[in-house]
Parts: sequence; structure tokens; C-alpha cells
Amino acid sequence: MRPRAVLALALGLVLLLTGCGEPGKTPSQAGAPPSASAVPTPTPKPKPRPSPSRTTPPKPKLRPLPKTLPAGLHRTSGDRGVALTFDDGPDPRYTPQILDQLRAAHVTATFCLVGKQAKRYPQLVARIVREGHQLCNHSWRHDINLGRRPLAEIRADLVRTNQAIRAAAPRAPITWFRQPGGRWTAEELIVARQLGLRPLHWSVDPQDWEHPPAKTIIKRVTAATHHGSIVLMHDAGGDRTQTMAACRRLIPDLKRRYGISRLR
Ligand SMILES: [Zn+2]
Repeated sequence: MRPRAVLALALGLVLLLTGCGEPGKTPSQAGAPPSASAVPTPTPKPKPRPSPSRTTPPKPKLRPLPKTLPAGLHRTSGDRGVALTFDDGPDPRYTPQILDQLRAAHVTATFCLVGKQAKRYPQLVARIVREGHQLCNHSWRHDINLGRRPLAEIRADLVRTNQAIRAAAPRAPITWFRQPGGRWTAEELIVARQLGLRPLHWSVDPQDWEHPPAKTIIKRVTAATHHGSIVLMHDAGGDRTQTMAACRRLIPDLKRRYGISRLR
């Protein structure tokens, strides 16, 4: 029994060294398709990588941003007065401050609301409406690339934002839509119109989101504003202390020089 066991072990060892049971092939050839030794072995095609789409669907490519703004954007107030617009809120710190200022001056403005913020602060949305201001949809999460996405995604975003606003202020009309960053596409205008939203741009942008001092915001607005201007400022999305300070001067000044109008 013992010599037989030694023989079996030796045989097993030989088979192992010559390529796992495929006699005549070196280990490197093992697994390659059988071929005559004179014919060069075709290079095996690289196996396709497992596609990530099996688990997560691939993100559709973003549509290119047009080089110029599409036609049809509202860029004037609609009369000789100036229209004030406040973006990215509502915000519990700054929106009440701007509402107090507007009320004190007996004027109204348009608030471009971010859906997530509206959902979080419904009481502020209700106050905006109660005090006679106009509403503008400013996308669910301030997506600056929204206009470049598939139409169904744009539509879903705008609908969701409208729903959050309506949950807070059921009977208030949502007249406008403003694309975050002003990065409009023609496709987005089509969707907005289908939903009964008018595309609201601006004509005066003091870039208050970059936190310049109040006096710079005042200077920029004063220099650029004319009859019929739409002024863009922010009551949310960061520290707006300088905007609040600037508005204490700007609102009465603009009212005296041009009148402050409702958008139409
Ligand atoms: Zn914005």
C-alpha cells in the first residue's frame, strides 16, 4: 500500500506542474483556445468591463448651455416703475427683515422661492403672500444646471417646487419662474410655459451674493437702474447682512426716483 501511495502523490505532483490536467500545455497556455502551434494565437479580446448601469442607470448628458439668452425672457417691469425681486428664500433670518422694510415703504416685491426652503419655512411663504407680494418658482434646490437636464426632470422639479409653495399658500398664484444663475435654455422655457409660469430674468444685478459692502450694492444698483428695471437681490443663500443694509437706503430711494411697481 505504501509504494502505491507514493506513486499517486508523484503523479499528482506531475499533473500540477504541467498545467492542471491539460497535458502538453504550459500553465500560461492553459485556458487559451486550442490552436495549432504553427498558427499564431489570436490575441484574446479584452472582456467588457462590467457596466455600472447594472446597478445605477447612467446619468443623461447635460444639454449644452446656449451662448446667448433665449428669447422671451421678462427683463423689464412692464411699466415705468422699478420691480424688486428677492431670490433663494425664504430664510428665517433675512426674509422677515426685508418684509418689514417693504411694508414700511408701502411697496411690494417678487420673491423667487427655492422649493426646499418653502417646504421648510411655510409660515414665511404664507407671510409673503399675506403681505401682497408676488411669487416666483426658483427650482427645488437651486439647480443651476436645471435647464440642461431632460425635459421630464425640469418639469418634475418645477412641479415639486410649486407643490411646496402651494402647500404653504394654497390660493396664491405662482406667476413666474426664474432659472437659478440665469442659465436659461429654450427647452426650459417651453416647460415653464406649459406649467403656466412666465420666465423672469432681470436687468440690474449688483452681485450681492458675493457679499460686497452695502455701499457697493447701493452704488451698483443706483448706477444701473432706469425706468422699468428689474432689480435682482438675495434674501437668502448666505450672509445677507449687507443686502439688508443696502435695501434700507435703496427701497426708499428707488421708490422716490422711479416708483416701485408690481411685475406685469
Ligand atoms: Zn438664485
